[in-house]
Amino acid sequence: MLGLAKRVKAKILQASTSEVYGDPVVHPQDEKYWGNVNPIGMRACYDEGKRCAETLFFDYHRQNNVNIRVVRIFNTYGPRMKANDGRVVSNFIVQALKNEDITIFGDGSQTRSFCYVDDMVKGIVNTMDMADFPGPINLGNPQEFTIKELAEKIIKLTNSVSKLQFSRLPEDDPARRKPDISLAKEKLSWEPAIGVDDGLKKTIEFFKKIIDE
Ligand code: UDP
Repeated sequence: MLGLAKRVKAKILQASTSEVYGDPVVHPQDEKYWGNVNPIGMRACYDEGKRCAETLFFDYHRQNNVNIRVVRIFNTYGPRMKANDGRVVSNFIVQALKNEDITIFGDGSQTRSFCYVDDMVKGIVNTMDMADFPGPINLGNPQEFTIKELAEKIIKLTNSVSKLQFSRLPEDDPARRKPDISLAKEKLSWEPAIGVDDGLKKTIEFFKKIIDE
């Protein structure tokens, strides 16, 4: 794709990820932080794959003047997620709507910061429209929750009688994740507008419809 972008002089965006920060020792994570990644672990193919893609983007930018944009996308959710793709927001909402146990991995003290999809799309469009800034740039919502708090919030919003069920934490699961979005605020005049309660309500409505079908 970078070769094609070079040939046709296209602007090209990499949907990178907060995973490039691995299990971060810096909190919140800003773009200057180089990350803490296990190169041979369970998540390495994802983390190192995205890191290597960033490297290639910046090499093409430096060597061939390719017009790149690299956005580091933090946890994002919203309507039209797949019910069975295993992500935490979709899993918990589907489980809560069916009054099944909520599957918390570990003790639920790990944190994530969840961005509603419409905010994310606006951030990405702004990045593509911005002149002469390759990134990388963090996009995400800095409102941080523990996974247990998220489960409790979803149970409440769905009026569910689901119970919390705790199981083993997957290997190298990051303990904390929260974007520092100062750069996005400065460069894109962007910050998320939709709080987690409103975003979850819209997402719950979507899953209610597809579960009833
Ligand atoms: N998680 C969980 N139960 C689930 C799915 C995920 O407790 O049914 C946890 C997972 O271990 C991680 C967090 O929720 O700590 C976010 O997981 P997800 O796969 O959505 O995103 P990522 O790990 O890439 O942040």
